[in-house]
Amino acid sequence: MTGGAATVVGRGPAGLLAATLLAAAGLSVHVVSSASGTLPLWSGRFNFRDWDQGVAVDNPWDWWREHGEQHFVGGTAGARWRRLWSIWRAVGQQLGMDAAIPERNRWTVTSLGRRRPVFWTPPWELALDTAPAAVAVVGLEGLLDFEPELVADGFRGPGAVRTLRLPLPPAWHPGWGTVRWGAFLDSGSGADWVEQQLVRVLGRSQGTELVVLPQVLGLSRTEVLLDRLERSLGRLVREVGLAPPGLGGMRLEARWTAWLLSSGVQMHHGRVQAIRGAGGVTMADGRPVGEGPVILATGGILGGGVRLSADGTGVDAISGRLLGYLADGDDPALALRWGLALDDGGVAGRQAAGCDPDVHGDGGAVCLWTAAEAVDRVVPGLVDRLARIGAAEVAVQDVAAPVLGTEEEAKRV
Ligand SMILES: Cc1cc2nc3c(=O)[nH]c(=O)nc-3n(C[C@H](O)[C@H](O)[C@H](O)COP(=O)(O)OP(=O)(O)OC[C@H]3O[C@@H](n4cnc5c(N)ncnc54)[C@H](O)[C@@H]3O)c2cc1C
Repeated sequence: MTGGAATVVGRGPAGLLAATLLAAAGLSVHVVSSASGTLPLWSGRFNFRDWDQGVAVDNPWDWWREHGEQHFVGGTAGARWRRLWSIWRAVGQQLGMDAAIPERNRWTVTSLGRRRPVFWTPPWELALDTAPAAVAVVGLEGLLDFEPELVADGFRGPGAVRTLRLPLPPAWHPGWGTVRWGAFLDSGSGADWVEQQLVRVLGRSQGTELVVLPQVLGLSRTEVLLDRLERSLGRLVREVGLAPPGLGGMRLEARWTAWLLSSGVQMHHGRVQAIRGAGGVTMADGRPVGEGPVILATGGILGGGVRLSADGTGVDAISGRLLGYLADGDDPALALRWGLALDDGGVAGRQAAGCDPDVHGDGGAVCLWTAAEAVDRVVPGLVDRLARIGAAEVAVQDVAAPVLGTEEEAKRV
């Protein structure tokens, strides 16, 4: 489509997105990162807008239309969001995850038994439009991160809810964490074990009962296992995300990285110290890496993009620019912002100032929007072009059913 080269610093969701869009445009892309991004800490669901002042948002499309002016996206939010989410769906399809883009927020239950809104989820994750008629919440003996009785609280309502617990598998060891459980259930013996145990406690039926399990159903073969369990049980089976590390995010990151590598993107490891005027970056050991314009997708304090001093001052870890104060500073505007302004160009994700995805529940959306803005600065008009070509031309699904069964339920989320 076009030649040239670009360098993305960071391989969190924003960096991977920017690299994907640039690679799709035919650029020679370098991704440089000192470590993994935050994806392995969460389940991989991409939020659009979950909360407004602590209240669950029902229709995030409307929310952005009404609030875009006050946010970093400006006033053209509607059409642009449609394009971006259809591109995201096409990316998901490339990664083997054909999950539709919903018309409204849906809801899930957290591992602490709280209901919360969700937007785009990978196919293995629980996301409901209406309250299920019946639910079986199944825990695993020896997996302390998922207490079925606690999780069941989130389903309390008109439907029947029951809790069950599978016994310890023969191979189990007290040192098993979620990743070890995932590796076990990826194996043939683990898949046989969980299928036999579930059939033993739940039986085979064609019932409407939803089966909910902790997010440990494999590291790379999750859909195969889910399909097998659903065939055996005759019921829908879904996972609930757990506290970090998040196997859902790890699955997504592994697929995405493999796909980028197979698309010719070059991955480099190490800490970036400076952006080179001639293109690319300079590493901490002095090596020049990459070429072309640079997109900083270096995350916030957690990702390493913002370095925090003991006095509460935050600076950009690469340029040393003052970004904000954790405590009240001399400049109220600076006390509020954390990161580089989009107007500076070449910045994506958590590093972009003016948003707090943790509070608003819009982390995935912020990555999507800002990565698109950043790549559009490298190749003007790229995102609109991508949205027009076949790869991204996937219709946004119309979801007819209301997200939350009743208004009463909506208030409880
Ligand atoms: C626990 C947790 C749960 C979350 N849950 C959700 C959720 O459910 N849904 C959702 O949509 N979002 C979720 N998020 C995402 C969050 O809201 C942000 O959107 C996301 O973390 C930002 O990603 P990013 O790509 O901007 O940065 P990060 O993921 O932080 O990536 C930063 C990258 O930059 C690299 N880097 C930084 N400095 C340098 C340097 N000098 N040299 C080289 N590399 C460097 C890092 O190594 C890393 O690869 C969650 C995040 C966390 C931490």
